[in-house]
This record gives sequence, C-alpha cells and structure tokens, in this order.
Amino acid sequence: MGRMKMILVTGLLLFGVAVIGVDPAPADPAPQVTPDPESPIDTLTRIFAPHLSETKSSSPLEPVYCGVDIMAMVKSTWSRMSPELRQHIPDVYRPFEFRDKGANSEQGAEVCDAFLDSTHFRVHYSTDPAHLPPGFPDLQMVRDLATHLETAYMYHRDVSGMGVALPDGDYGGGQDLIDCYFYKLNDGLFGYAHGVGRGETACDHTRWGYIAVTTDFGTYDAASQLRLTSEHEYFHILQYAHSSVESSWFMESTARNSEFHVWPDFAVPRGAWAWMRHPYFPLWDGTGYHKYAPHFWLYLEAHHGRDFVTRIWDRCCHAEFETALISEIDELGVDLDATLMDFAVWNYFSGERDDGNHYDPVYGLPAVFQQASYTSYPLLSTALSGGTIARPAGSNYIRFMGPASRNNLQLTFDGHPDMVGERAVVVLGVNEWGHRSWVLEPDTDGNVELIVPDWGLFDYVTLVVANFWNAPDDSISLHYTYSAAEIEQATEVTDPAKLVNCAPNPFGNSTRVVYYSPRDGSTSTIRVYDTAGRLVRTLIDEPVFTGLHQVVWDGKDQHGRMAATGIYLIRLENGPHQHTRKVMFVR
Ligand SMILES: [Zn+2]
Repeated sequence: MGRMKMILVTGLLLFGVAVIGVDPAPADPAPQVTPDPESPIDTLTRIFAPHLSETKSSSPLEPVYCGVDIMAMVKSTWSRMSPELRQHIPDVYRPFEFRDKGANSEQGAEVCDAFLDSTHFRVHYSTDPAHLPPGFPDLQMVRDLATHLETAYMYHRDVSGMGVALPDGDYGGGQDLIDCYFYKLNDGLFGYAHGVGRGETACDHTRWGYIAVTTDFGTYDAASQLRLTSEHEYFHILQYAHSSVESSWFMESTARNSEFHVWPDFAVPRGAWAWMRHPYFPLWDGTGYHKYAPHFWLYLEAHHGRDFVTRIWDRCCHAEFETALISEIDELGVDLDATLMDFAVWNYFSGERDDGNHYDPVYGLPAVFQQASYTSYPLLSTALSGGTIARPAGSNYIRFMGPASRNNLQLTFDGHPDMVGERAVVVLGVNEWGHRSWVLEPDTDGNVELIVPDWGLFDYVTLVVANFWNAPDDSISLHYTYSAAEIEQATEVTDPAKLVNCAPNPFGNSTRVVYYSPRDGSTSTIRVYDTAGRLVRTLIDEPVFTGLHQVVWDGKDQHGRMAATGIYLIRLENGPHQHTRKVMFVR
C-alpha cells in the first residue's frame, strides 16, 4: 500500500501559517487487523524497541500503541521481561503496582497507527474503524488540534514567557516533535499530560513530555473543549519544565487560568462554581473540582499584571510554590493576608452581584454562595455549622437584609482569641450606587463590633469573614458566632469620635485608617506626625457624615515623598474629641 503525501495549508489563528503533512493520506483504507503471531514479550520488545535506544528513531511511521491492552500485556508478562525492557517501558504504560508514582493512566484500548505533523507537534490518531477520530476521514478535528497546539506553543514562546516545551525524542515521535495522542479517554477525562525526560535541575528546559487529548467531549461543545484542553495540557508540559513537584491545586488552577489567556472567548471558569459554593474551603484545596478554579489567579493578574502566574512559575524553578507566591507578593510590597481579604471582597461581587468594578464580566464567574442570610432582628449568637466555618484562606458571607428604616445596625462578631492576626472581618454595605466597606481586625479577644450607620441606605449589609493564609485548620479556633440588632440612631451620637483601627500595622505599602465621626457635618481632621511631633501629612480635614469612615495613608509626606521607616502617630480631631494611634511604617 503506497503512502501518499498530501500538504495542507492551515491558517493559524494568530501567528501566520503552518504547513501540516498528513501521512497516511486520509483516502487510504484502514489497515487490515490480523492476529499478532508474536509472543507477548516479543510484541512488547517490538513495540518498545524503538524506545530502548537513547538515540532518536529515524523511522517515520513507527506504530505507537496507546491503551490499556498494552498495560494488560505489560502486566501479564512483567515477570518475564528483561530488566532493561522493564526499565524503559514508559511509566504510563505500566500497571499501577509497577509505576514510579501514581500518574495518569486512563487510556482506552485504541491503537494510534497514524499521525499528522505540524511545525512542533505530532498528533497521533487511529485509523481503526472502531476508534476513528471525529471527522475522519477528512481529519478536520486532527488538524484543528494540531493548529490549537501550535497556537499554545507560540503564545507561550512569544507572549507569556513560559518558554517552549522540548520534543520528547520518544513515545513514537522519533523526530523533533512533541507527541500528542488523540483518542477516546475514559470517563469524561478530557486530556492529560505526562512529564518525563532528564531534567536534572529545574528550569533547565531539558524536561519533556507528551499529551493525550480525548476525541469524546461528551455533551460539551467539542470545538471549544479541543481548544481549551490542548492549551491546558500543553501548559502542564511547560509547568513540568519549571518544576515537577508542585501541588495539584497549583498545577490545575494555573493551567485553567492559562486557558483564559489564549482562549478568552471560549474559556469558562470551570471549577470556580464548585469553589464559590464552598468558599469556606481552603483556597488551595486539592480535592474534587475546587482545584480547577482559576479565579485566584484572575484576581492576582488583574492587580499585579498579566504575567503574574508566569513569574510565580519562574520562581518555582528554585522554590516550592508557596515560597514562590509569598516572595513574589512580598517583593511587590503587598501583604498576603490583605490580599486574601480583598480577594474575598472581589468574590462577593461576582455573578449576579457583579458591579462592574471587580472581575471582568467576560470571565463569567458565578456568584459566591451565601452562608447565611437574615431579614429579621435581633439575631443572637448565631454560629455557622461546623462544616461551613471558613478554613484557612477561606471566606464566609453573612448577609443582613436592611429594613426600610434610618436606624443603625449593630454587628457583633465573637471569635476566638487564638484567631487574632489570623482572620479579618470586612463589612460591606451594598446599594445601587456601589458599596462601602469597613475592614476590621479582631481585638485581643478575637471580637469585632461595628455599628453600620443608617443601614436603611443599603439594600443589604454583608459580613465577610476572611481567613488569613496561615490560619490554623482546627475547628475550635476557627469557630465564631455573630449577632445583629437594629439600634436607634440617637444612641451612638453621643459616642466620642475615635480612631477605630489602623491596619495593617506595621505596614509597608499603605495602612487603612478607620475612624468614627459622631455628628453629621462635624469636621474630622486626621493628621500624621512623626515621633518628634512634626507634621508629616494631613490625611483628611473636612466635614463627614455620622458613622464610620476610612482613609488610607500610603506612607508619603505632604510633598509626595516616601517617609522614613519608623513609628508615626495618627491623630484624629473632631470638635472636643481627640484620639491618637501609633503605626509603624517599614519601607
Ligand atoms: Zn490538568
């Protein structure tokens, strides 16, 4: 049977033109399937012989078998295989007990006996009538997959800074191409990537790997999923080139994030829905579908640049992920726990609560799930159930629906002393104009009290409990209760003006000064002095409404110059009231 070479020219979506050779030609009939006369060990030796050599095979069309039938053969003949053959059998073809580590192995029983080459990839597929790829014999979907892989390749080479994946020189490529197997995977698995190779040190770009993508996307739109899956799995190969030991949460959530970069019109925030329903779970939870939620990275990239995730992966060449993230955040002069608080607030304004000031609506993030919601008051000592208390880096959302009155709402949060410095409470007042927020850190007893003035102004008030990164994952110190009551406005008019909080403190970037003003229209003046009593900056000097307000000091003096590291006094004056707090600024 002669092979015919056909050259196809396919327009790449972003980057020009790729020449793709198809071999064999689509019009060729499927090869005859005949019983294998060889013994199992001969078959294995023959199948894997090209891979025994360190040098790349020059055979242009070496059959490559993908499937559990191969695994079954390996298993049944393992005891008779030579040590050398055993050693060189790719991990993914081994039965679990013979694997180096548990890895992806959900191959079907297909035989990939044909391939299509693009500039950097060899896409293997089957001509077996029982396992034809979609679109066969016109092979449109195979060509699409190759095109999408090239798009991913060029995006990460030229735009994202993640670099390129090397060809594996193995697994049937036999050429300077990255292998991708396109066949039906089991049970809704859309794809996987397997990192192998000889990388001795991180980021030496000598690691390689191969990709498998399913031909069966079930009820999902195949054209979209082919794009997203090819990007996702290729990104995994790039991750392996940086580090092969990171958590599955970090691997999967950043791979999902990369789908938004390359295919924003097709990407959907899969996994975010699961997390938004369980916001009390740790962000880094690696079980179930949570780990696929990309929204933490979408948030960080919105604040710190589109290459934020690439920068973290670069750091992962030399450090574990957690160290990499924290050192990057530190270098930006940002507080990680303040980031988590702000992230919790952003999550609140997702889905139907999107106000246009937070996540890009194109991401289509679902609304975060309410943990509690109330329309009648008072509420006394109401705890969330144990299973819904926010874990480290998790959040709770408790909504108080406002009645149409001009009374105040008194919120009392009763936490655990051990949680001081481990958790913060943000109160959001939301109405059609937007939202007001009060950021509160628990006192030494773990408590917070807040009076929301004139809460009839708001459609609802929400208590957001945000746990810090290192908050302990124990049910006792994470436990808290809260209560709410409507109180007469007049009762707190007599309270003195005061500085409620300055946080963070010490601070390196900015500190948020929360203050209370006792009378509508009374002038509040807040000034920053150094310890010698010299005026550094006037933060505010104007009439304000009754209630809590906030102003941020960014560490600069009146002339816009950065102040020196040291202790500063923040002084509030309002009529007869004066109140001073110390803050520490660390440049
Ligand atoms: Zn993945």
